[in-house]
Amino acid sequence: MARLASVCYLTGGLVGFLTAWLVPAWDERAAALVVSTVALLAGVAIALFGARLSVRAFYLAIFPTLGLLAVQMGMQRGHAEAVAAALLLPLVSMFLHAFYDHRSCLIADTAVLVLLVVAWVAWRALPVAIVGTLVCVNAVVASVTGWLVHTAAEAETDLLTGLPNRRGLNRVLRSALAGDADHRLVLVLLDAGPLRSPAARDGTAAEDGLLRTLAAGWSAEAGSGTVLARYGDTTFAVLVRGGVPAATATLERLRAVAGGAVPAGTARWEPGDDHATLVNRAESALSEARRAGGSATVHHEDTSGIAAGFEAALDAGEFSVAYQPIVAAADGRVTGAEALVRWSSRARGPIPPDEFIPDAERCGFIRTLDRWVLRTACRTAASWPAGVPSKITVNVSGRELDQPDYYDDVVAALAESGLAAERLVLEVTESTLDADSVAALEVLRRLRTLGIRIAIDDFGTGYSSLSRLHRLPADILKIDRSFVAALGAGEEDAPIVAAITGLARTLGLRTVAEGVEDQHQADVLRRYGCDEFQGWLYGRAGEPERIAAALAPGAGERLSGPSLRSPASSGPSRGRS
Ligand code: C2E
Ligand code: CA
Ligand code: CA
Repeated sequence: MARLASVCYLTGGLVGFLTAWLVPAWDERAAALVVSTVALLAGVAIALFGARLSVRAFYLAIFPTLGLLAVQMGMQRGHAEAVAAALLLPLVSMFLHAFYDHRSCLIADTAVLVLLVVAWVAWRALPVAIVGTLVCVNAVVASVTGWLVHTAAEAETDLLTGLPNRRGLNRVLRSALAGDADHRLVLVLLDAGPLRSPAARDGTAAEDGLLRTLAAGWSAEAGSGTVLARYGDTTFAVLVRGGVPAATATLERLRAVAGGAVPAGTARWEPGDDHATLVNRAESALSEARRAGGSATVHHEDTSGIAAGFEAALDAGEFSVAYQPIVAAADGRVTGAEALVRWSSRARGPIPPDEFIPDAERCGFIRTLDRWVLRTACRTAASWPAGVPSKITVNVSGRELDQPDYYDDVVAALAESGLAAERLVLEVTESTLDADSVAALEVLRRLRTLGIRIAIDDFGTGYSSLSRLHRLPADILKIDRSFVAALGAGEEDAPIVAAITGLARTLGLRTVAEGVEDQHQADVLRRYGCDEFQGWLYGRAGEPERIAAALAPGAGERLSGPSLRSPASSGPSRGRS
């Protein structure tokens, strides 16, 4: 508002100034210059301090503005400068219809009309043709501005619930943070998904009805001063002022209205946060709450210090990527490698991923790290021998998949490195993947349509149910190394491995057994029809050149474990290719 008002005043002042300056001297020229100067000064003042004025103050300022224009027209009657002043009236109409409701517009529009009629009839300052034209132009400017603003507002409104949608929320957030940001601003994200399940059985109409009723109930309960928005399919956002205690109290009231399990994530505004950071933190808190299940509330803590430490380590080149070979079960030939990140901290020495990945996930650095690993691994794999088919497997934290730009990042990594999509496998751990997140599953689906394959890591250790597996867009199951480790010497039966490979066959998925450390394990796994192996028997994670050398034509022996030399002697292979 302030910007537009300032532009209008400056335009008016400048026009008045130039016309008074350029035309030959006439009696009221000095007065005209004074009026124009007032308009110019008003424009500058509004540009500087306008953000502090209320919407009402801007409205009231319209009337003195019309007064200034009336003075110009009245003084310069008989001159073309009166017409010049009148031609500024459409700016007033535009401003009005951009920001005010019908009633306020009607009052001010009437004032504009009265002014035109007085200038025409009483002062004879304007010819009838100009008055007629201005009335029409004003009407067009008013309707077009009103329509554009209405359309823009609709784009920010969720049509089902009438609440602001994600776009609307972003705008509210941006303007809340643009002023002097409230230190006690808390963004709460609630997932109404668990409430929906019974309604979903009754069809879309029932589901829509449920969301509408919920939105109405929550709107009434949220109270003034809070903003409620429909953030996603079943996700609602509440912007609360008054810090975490106020947010918790609001949450309790909303949950009472919902009458069912509603997981929630909250993030408090921290100095330096822009709206995107705040939303990201609330989102990761919600993902965690969803994973915890029921009506869990997760408050996002301030982990910026931890993140800054990681960033510095990445900049200092303390992270590297090691490559562990993956081999075909049938003949021990290297088919690719898994990229595993390594951190050699200058201060603390080598730190195993199992130790630092959870921290990186907690503070959000995992996104930066995993994208760096992805780009590095794609570049490396693109340089491996071209004649031999090989794939590169990269770990993805489930937390990244909710990120709207993840898909674009993967596409960019492929384009940058020149790696074919079919050579990339993304490994998602079942337990970090929010299988109820529509956005995450959608990203996986879109990535698969490019030709990228998806592997479910540590399969069997998460809280997978068959229905979840059915929904996951996957190509490969990685049998967790705990099941492989259970295959001790002399142990011939592995019912869990049998169940997983059987399941994979039924669903048309390939299997990779992890943590294969000895020949006996390899033999048993091969008998159960595992397609590929990964483990110390075939090589630890190391330099990428070792993989490149093993892939070079005629290099089959280099990484071989005992099974490579006599694949046939270890029992029939039922591995599919
Ligand atoms: P993971 O994805 O299941 O990776 C396999 C882990 O098993 C690796 O541990 C690997 O070194 C280890 N391993 C491989 N063969 C054997 C074997 O024969 N016996 C035994 N006992 N272990 C074996 P590492 O490298 O310590 O990684 C641990 C976990 O950290 C990974 O488990 C993965 O979940 C995570 N991780 C590693 N790199 C990344 C990454 O770039 N991004 C993300 N998000 N997570 C990563
Ligand atoms: Ca993995
Ligand atoms: Ca694994």
